[in-house]
Parts: sequence; structure tokens; C-alpha cells
Amino acid sequence: MSADPVLTLDDLAVWSRAGTSLAVLGHPIKHSISPAMHNAALAELARTDRRFGDWKYFRFDVHPDDLPRALDLLHARNFRGVNLTVPHKVIAFDRVRRVNAAAQPVGAVNTLLWSEQGWQGFNTDGYGLAMALRETLNAELSGAHVILLGAGGAARGAAVECLQRGCASLSIANRTRENLTTLIAILKPLAGTIPLRGFDPSSPPPDLPTHALIINATSAGLRETDALPIKLGALPRPAAVFDMIYNPPETPLLRAAASQSIRCANGLSMLVHQGAKALEIWTGVPAVRTAPVMTGATRVALAAR
Ligand code: NDP
Repeated sequence: MSADPVLTLDDLAVWSRAGTSLAVLGHPIKHSISPAMHNAALAELARTDRRFGDWKYFRFDVHPDDLPRALDLLHARNFRGVNLTVPHKVIAFDRVRRVNAAAQPVGAVNTLLWSEQGWQGFNTDGYGLAMALRETLNAELSGAHVILLGAGGAARGAAVECLQRGCASLSIANRTRENLTTLIAILKPLAGTIPLRGFDPSSPPPDLPTHALIINATSAGLRETDALPIKLGALPRPAAVFDMIYNPPETPLLRAAASQSIRCANGLSMLVHQGAKALEIWTGVPAVRTAPVMTGATRVALAAR
């Protein structure tokens, strides 16, 4: 059996583990390397702090219809914290008792902490993105002209982070016009004086900023055969390209950027930093302390695929 088997609600129904447990819920979940990442960090913490000796992180395949029951059962079985991935981030937002300020405008939660008041929701994806940009591209969202690709959940989180950190401008491109219009309407009240606009990726406007930071938050690139979410040659020369996708490690967009000598990075660092921030919420240990061991563990887990 795998070191991190895919568990289900049936396993939770007969759960008898005494130690402190954490979990990621998703549907599907078999691709998730979060258990490898978190358990490596917990093992490292346990070496110097006995409090963490019995902590372990599990993964559960939970159908969206079963999320409320899963959250009740997780509490009944003394789970301390939960990560949520597709498709639970938005569904859980409406189900948790309290949502922290950072998650509120995103409309999605990726981390839950049990408290006396019930499950509390957080969103650490924006923090993960900002830290990843700094670490991999030496780039800051503050003061940057950002061209964001996508209008789904990850794009919404990224857009909120860009606006909250004071980007110089935000231009968003998305394949489906309707989804783009909805996202722009949600973001407008947050933008204040920051220029915000949407555009069709097949015909970028001629006055887009040069030296922009391009962030891909679409799923285009998950498959080798996917078309580019945008043609880089149709844009003014960007400063850098960040692709949230980390598996495959090099998407067609990143290949195109590299071939034009544009600095670029994939989303592995974002995965690590959002995870380290979640672990900070559960343990109180600063995210910067656990991120290095998590980075190592994700590389090993991906190489083993
Ligand atoms: P959603 O399903 O919510 O949104 C998907 C987005 O991708 C939509 O804007 C959709 O456009 C667009 N899209 C899908 N297929 C294509 C295509 N073939 N060409 C162009 N656009 C396309 O997904 P998420 O927002 O949750 O995730 C998006 C990506 O971000 C995923 O690849 C995910 O793995 C990655 N991600 C990485 C994280 C990390 O830690 N590194 C964290 C979170 C997400 P349309 O509106 O037209 O359908």
C-alpha cells in the first residue's frame, strides 16, 4: 500500500487514531502530493518538539455532496485542521462558521482550523502566490503591472492578492467572456484607483503595459496537447511569466517564455508556500521555517511519479 493511501468516508466512520490528525479533502485526490509535503514538515518538527510526535496528515476522496458529513465526522474524530482542494474550496466557504479577512473577498477557503466555535476558514493561496513570485522570480506584486490569465477560483484569489498588495494595474484575459465579466464585477469594488480591465486572449489590446508580470491561472497546460492560454508574441515584452501549474513542470507557456529568454517559473513554489502557511495556522510554527523541507519533499514526490 502507498505511504499515503487515498482514504474515504468509510475509513473516517471507523477512525480510531489517537494522535492529532490533519487532512486534505478533494475529488479526485489521488494526484495530491500534500500528504508527502506536510508529513515531511511534521516529521522535521517532531525531531525538536515532542508536541508534534503524533501529528499526521491524510488525504480523503470526498464527493462534494458529502462535504458537510465529512466536516462533521472530521470534527467528531478530533481532526485539528483540513485543507480543501477542487471542488471543495467554494462550497466550504458557505459552510464554515467564520472566514478570516483574507478569504472573504476570494469567496473560497483552502484551509480549515477547528475552534470552539466550529470550523474556521482561511485562504492561503494568495500568500503562496506572493511568496512564490518573490522566491522564484524576485518579483513583487506591489507596484507591478499584472496580466492575469483565467477567471476561475485560482484567478480570483490571485486577482484579490494583486489588488490588496497594490499592483500598478491588473489586466485579465479569459476564454469565456461571461466568466471574465463576472470576475471583473466582483473585483471592481476592491480595485479603488488601480486600473482594472478584462480582455479577450485571442485579441489582446495594443496598449497593454510592457514589462508586465504574466500569471497563468488557467488549466491550459495541464495536458501536453493544450493550446497556449495566450500567444506571448501578441503581448508587449513581459518582465516574467509565472504558471500556477506545477505538474507537468514545464507547460507550453513556460516553454514559449524560455524560448524567448523571458524569466519564468512554475507553480511548485506556490503549492509549498500555501501549504506552509496552512501548517502555520494549525501548529503556530512560522511558514518560513517549514517551507524548505516541504520544497524538498514535493520534489521527491513529483520525481517518484
Ligand atoms: P477553475 O476550474 O476554477 O478555472 C479554470 C480556468 O482555466 C478558467 O478561467 C477556464 O476558462 C480556464 N481554462 C480551462 N481550460 C482552458 C483552456 N484549454 N484554454 C484556456 N483557458 C482554459 O480552476 P482553478 O482556478 O481552481 O485552477 C486553475 C489552475 O491553477 C489549475 O491548473 C490548478 O492546478 C492551478 N492551481 C495551482 C495552485 C498551486 O498551488 N500551484 C493553486 C490553485 C490552482 P473558462 O472560464 O473559459 O472556462
